[in-house]
Amino acid sequence: MIYADNSATTKVKPEVIDAMLPFFGEHYGNPSSLYAFAYDAKRAVEEAREKVAEVIGAKSREIFFTSCGSESDNWALRGVASKFDGGHIITSAIEHPAIMQTCKYLEKKGYRVTYLPVSELGEVNPDDVRAAICDDTILISVMTANNEIGTIQPIAEIGKIAREKKILFHTDAVQAYGHIPINVDEMNIDLLSLSGHKIGAPKGIGALYIRTGIKLNNLICGGGQERGRRAGTENVPYIVGLGCAASLAARDMEENIKKLSAMRERLIERVTKIPYCRLTGHPTNRLPGLVSIVIEGIEGEALLLNMFNEGICASSGSACSSGSLDPSHVLLAIGLPHHIAHGSLRISLGEENEVGDEIKIAEAIEKVSARLRAMSPVWENGKPMWA
Ligand SMILES: *Cc1c(COP(=O)(O)O)cnc(C)c1O
Repeated sequence: MIYADNSATTKVKPEVIDAMLPFFGEHYGNPSSLYAFAYDAKRAVEEAREKVAEVIGAKSREIFFTSCGSESDNWALRGVASKFDGGHIITSAIEHPAIMQTCKYLEKKGYRVTYLPVSELGEVNPDDVRAAICDDTILISVMTANNEIGTIQPIAEIGKIAREKKILFHTDAVQAYGHIPINVDEMNIDLLSLSGHKIGAPKGIGALYIRTGIKLNNLICGGGQERGRRAGTENVPYIVGLGCAASLAARDMEENIKKLSAMRERLIERVTKIPYCRLTGHPTNRLPGLVSIVIEGIEGEALLLNMFNEGICASSGSACSSGSLDPSHVLLAIGLPHHIAHGSLRISLGEENEVGDEIKIAEAIEKVSARLRAMSPVWENGKPMWA
């Protein structure tokens, strides 16, 4: 089997498991306890915080552990919004559902939200951000890199505008953290969401970076953990795992970018030779391991199941919204009509993949698309009905 769905989740790295194990067993103390037995747990949490911070040039005091990327996104948006009595939020039309649905909720609560359109390559235009700013804009939230089409956003430019206008800037960096360079100071980021399971740590651990001095309300109320800002007894083993995965990701980032973008380019070159098959997202300014395509005349679900029969795990549209019949909001936002958006396929390579996997994947896509087109009711004489 070739696992090529690393944007959905990654395998927990063996080093991460080794780092976590003692904190299920011998070091099971509660980091909040005052006796020496709990020191190991407390120290490990603080070391992990340091490691998570280092990857993005933050201070460890600015990292707050959460249960996942979705919680971090919810906290950033709700935590800022609830400081104000109404107001305006700017986001993009291609955000992850954790941002999208939170914005919809805030709209119901009386906030106004601008969903900025994107180019056909999936980029937010910084000029559009500037033009959307109102007197009562309280927050700008634009993702660092898109999970479906891989496009990397001009975060530094958007950050500069936000800073200039004194508006808080949040970025959902779940797909980008540990995969591409990010610096919260150089990019003027005030709040940043990240998640463990996209970088080789377990599912169910995340963090929110909150720049020093920024006030937002708590999402989870209770005890005084995380310096009173996120209640709940710390998930010590997972926090340790996240810290370990973060430092491994930083250590290997350059090498992984090189390896994965070369594999990505070979795969793109090969599959875009299939007639009526094209790349979605930006051709170069994209996540190193992410290849997203649409193959006309085919249904994404059939494509996925057939790919799995060929031994390849991939995804279509967004894994989070599979089960729904609507094509992904991201593919519609880049201007694809429904009938084309339905044939989407996402291959997300990770460092576990071996060089050469991309060729096997390309061969499987060629084989499967020819087979499905042969029995497709909308495919005739070597082209789709609408061509
Ligand atoms: C996976 C993902 C999330 C959600 O993170 P979880 O830890 O699964 O809750 C949020 N945003 C983006 C861009 C993602 O890819």
